[in-house]
Amino acid sequence: MQDAFGRNITYLRLSVTELCNLRCRYCMPPEGIQKRLHEDMLTQEETLLAVKVAAKLGISKVRITGGEPLVKKNILALCQGVADTEGIEELCLTTNGTLLPGLADSLLAAGVRRINISLDTLNPDTYARITRVGKLSDALSGLHAALAAGFEKVKINAVLMGGVNDGEIGSLAELSRAYPVDVRFIELMPMPGSQAFKEAAFVPGEAVLKALPELMPVPQEDGVASLYTLPGAKGRVGLIRPLSCQFCGTCDRLRLTADGRIKPCLHQPLEYPIKGLSEQQMQAQFRRAIQNKPPWHGELSSQSPSRAGRPMHRIGG
Ligand code: SAM
Ligand code: SF4
Repeated sequence: MQDAFGRNITYLRLSVTELCNLRCRYCMPPEGIQKRLHEDMLTQEETLLAVKVAAKLGISKVRITGGEPLVKKNILALCQGVADTEGIEELCLTTNGTLLPGLADSLLAAGVRRINISLDTLNPDTYARITRVGKLSDALSGLHAALAAGFEKVKINAVLMGGVNDGEIGSLAELSRAYPVDVRFIELMPMPGSQAFKEAAFVPGEAVLKALPELMPVPQEDGVASLYTLPGAKGRVGLIRPLSCQFCGTCDRLRLTADGRIKPCLHQPLEYPIKGLSEQQMQAQFRRAIQNKPPWHGELSSQSPSRAGRPMHRIGG
């Protein structure tokens, strides 16, 4: 279905939980997770009904996210249910990777084709500092498990933070030479409730091009990343620049939060609740969300923080 600006909406980012086993400073407030009532969250049946409704309106690609989707007990059944939904052609999942060693094969069997793993650093101390509680070795084991399982595509997402990991652009990009993975550098977004790393932490995507002059541009795919490659690399290097180079004009996505709100735009407070609705009522809400999708996400900077209204772990990045 097209929105009011002629954009064809085909992509749903589906958050299945607000919970997480990590506490990344740019994603979660210092007090951590606010405990929510079970009955406020979408059930598995409601989630799958929403995917069915979305597919009937033209959604063909779903990315499962969170919170950390792999802490969800019924994650395999959810993935299978989404993969089996008529009209869904591509199922992807974004994870911090730490629980992949026990789940990678089963996720593939349940229909997940592509995996994005968040990995901002290769330094164990920096990993512990960013995630507050995580161990780098767990995330690296997850990366190896994903590669061994044989997903169609494995990507690494690294959020750039000045004074934290901007000295690691080279070593992170080298992962695309060592493994058949795309490494995507993402600009830090000023999300509500995130401890971020203050103003000085914002590093524009251009910094990657300056640090790696040997990067060669490669043809762009659909999506939000500008793509490059290092000589001799198996994978590519991508830049995702929500602040310095916006991609709102080609935005094709909706988000559905774990508590059942359709968010037409990540950085706008607009939400359309679907919890407890019939199929027909849900469809009306999806239509409203698409029709009212804003033309762009508005100014984003340290002076103009995101108007998302929720921290990232409660939206689904
Ligand atoms: N737990 C999973 C993970 O970490 O991949 C999935 C959810 S997480 C919210 C999804 C993505 O959002 C991660 O790649 C994370 O790095 C990114 N993210 C979270 N907060 C962000 C922020 N303030 N700026 C940029 N990216 C952010
Ligand atoms: Fe958890 Fe992902 Fe947020 Fe980190 S970025 S706290 S892993 S949801």
